[in-house]
Amino acid sequence: MAHELDIIPGTEWGFFTLPRPMCIAGPCSAETEEQVMETAKGLDAFGIHVFRAGIWKPRTHPGSFEGVGSPGLKWLKRVKEELGMKVCTEVATEKHVLECIKYGIDVIWIGARTSANPFLMQEIADALEGTDIPVLVKNPVNPDLDLWIGALERLNRAGIRRLGVIHRGFSTSAPIPYRNDPGWRIAIELRTRYPQMAFFADPSHMAGDRKYLLELSQRAMDLGLDGLMVESHCDPSCAWSDAKQQLTPRDLQTLLESLVIREKTSDNEAYKEGIDALRARIDVLDENLLKLLADRNKVSSQIGQYKKDHNVAILQATRWEQVLSDMIEKGKALGLSNESVSAIFNAIHDESVRVQNRVLEQD
Ligand code: PEP
Ligand code: MN
Repeated sequence: MAHELDIIPGTEWGFFTLPRPMCIAGPCSAETEEQVMETAKGLDAFGIHVFRAGIWKPRTHPGSFEGVGSPGLKWLKRVKEELGMKVCTEVATEKHVLECIKYGIDVIWIGARTSANPFLMQEIADALEGTDIPVLVKNPVNPDLDLWIGALERLNRAGIRRLGVIHRGFSTSAPIPYRNDPGWRIAIELRTRYPQMAFFADPSHMAGDRKYLLELSQRAMDLGLDGLMVESHCDPSCAWSDAKQQLTPRDLQTLLESLVIREKTSDNEAYKEGIDALRARIDVLDENLLKLLADRNKVSSQIGQYKKDHNVAILQATRWEQVLSDMIEKGKALGLSNESVSAIFNAIHDESVRVQNRVLEQD
């Protein structure tokens, strides 16, 4: 089912006018008025226009620093008034929304633990009804695209049209170097469905460690995402939350300057000819793949008939495991990744089981 969203692209919000990447930066948490002002000044000095700081912090353990709460909103107001920056913070309840409106917060974001909760999303959407504040929705902690889209729909139905997303990766128990699994495939899928929607990556929470920020930021740019939300603190090692992943404003400037930003497309004639020729080749290969799949289905259907005639069950798990591991080996020799081969062949096998079931159900 298509879930339409009526949204205004980020470039028309009036404050993401810089060339890519559009960048939102600031500390994980607002800690003190001095820390907020010093960080904001450092960011403003090289052209960052949108300042982030967590006021209410969703923490795993009670007793960790849970944010300074409403008094910190006054510091954000100072950043706005004295530096002319737009300010943004995370909301998770109706009360947070009302406080943000009261203090003139320019943009709000919904955290990953909140976008995963439809009750909270509805509460926030109801509180936002009648306002036109831009809202950025982080992906839910679990890789569930529909839950993410559902959160966007609730806000959109409440009249929020300046909607965007922040991809911050997914919780995982897999042994990976990053704090979160980047799960770029889900981000690409969302991007493809809603190409106009402002799309940010949050390399800080994805990485969990500043040493991975550059590679993850570059990947986000290579995938054509619009912008980055990066945590920056005037004195990262002393940060009250997420100390390992924050950068000084100066280091953030260096990072942004070293990103290679590729054009989304090119008007160059030679480029167009070259890309058209390559795409024509891909189209032929895709058609051949479809023909091969159709031929494969015919054989699957014969196998189904044969099993039916001999009263044998369709699913032969051990045979399939063997086929899959052979394919993974052969694919490896051809330079294909384990993940792609298993995803593709599992899909092909599902189709084969469907075809054989159809044969079995026929009288
Ligand atoms: C944050 O941005 O500080 C934050 C808590 O992020 P997330 O919701 O992605 O964990
Ligand atoms: Mn953080």
